[in-house]
Amino acid sequence: MITRQFGIPVTSPGAILRRERDLGTPLGKKTAEVLQSGGLVSDKIIIELIEDWLRLHGGHGFVFDGFPRTLRQAESLTSILARLRTALDLAIWLEVSEQTVRDRIAGRLQCGECGFTTSSSSAQFAERAVCPYCDGPLVRRNDDDLSVLQTRLQEFHTKTEPLASFYGKMSILHRIDGNRDREAVFSDISRLLENKR
Ligand SMILES: [Zn+2]
Repeated sequence: MITRQFGIPVTSPGAILRRERDLGTPLGKKTAEVLQSGGLVSDKIIIELIEDWLRLHGGHGFVFDGFPRTLRQAESLTSILARLRTALDLAIWLEVSEQTVRDRIAGRLQCGECGFTTSSSSAQFAERAVCPYCDGPLVRRNDDDLSVLQTRLQEFHTKTEPLASFYGKMSILHRIDGNRDREAVFSDISRLLENKR
């Protein structure tokens, strides 16, 4: 939606890694195993992939979804951007409760072809679970098991939460209540991006 509305490319480590996996690269195969077991791919690999992506696509603005997730990633991103002579305008912190996370994981569907993610409670997918973009099959993700959640939450608290103060100190952090429906959240994000244009 951000790409359509603002003409800015959006990516996530997940999207980049899924592409590596689909291309069958050694890196793609290795990281698929890590993700399957609920772990996080190493900072070094993520950072290399992000830098490659930025050099190819980041010339006229960009949005990262779910990156950086660790202090080391954030510090590396700062150096990469300094080399590319650019800087971050915004760090958006989507705050969600643990219950919201549980509810969403339990109801999440993903396209097996293009990676589009939606929720099984969306009425339009109730009858036929087909991707609106490529007609691929919408299936539950392998890493969606609630058993994996505990590992993820722990990693979030120890590794990701410190980023709030990292970007807070740079005065670019904006907190958004992510427990609301996606239209309300998207409209808040749009307003922030609009002000930076
Ligand atoms: Zn699709």
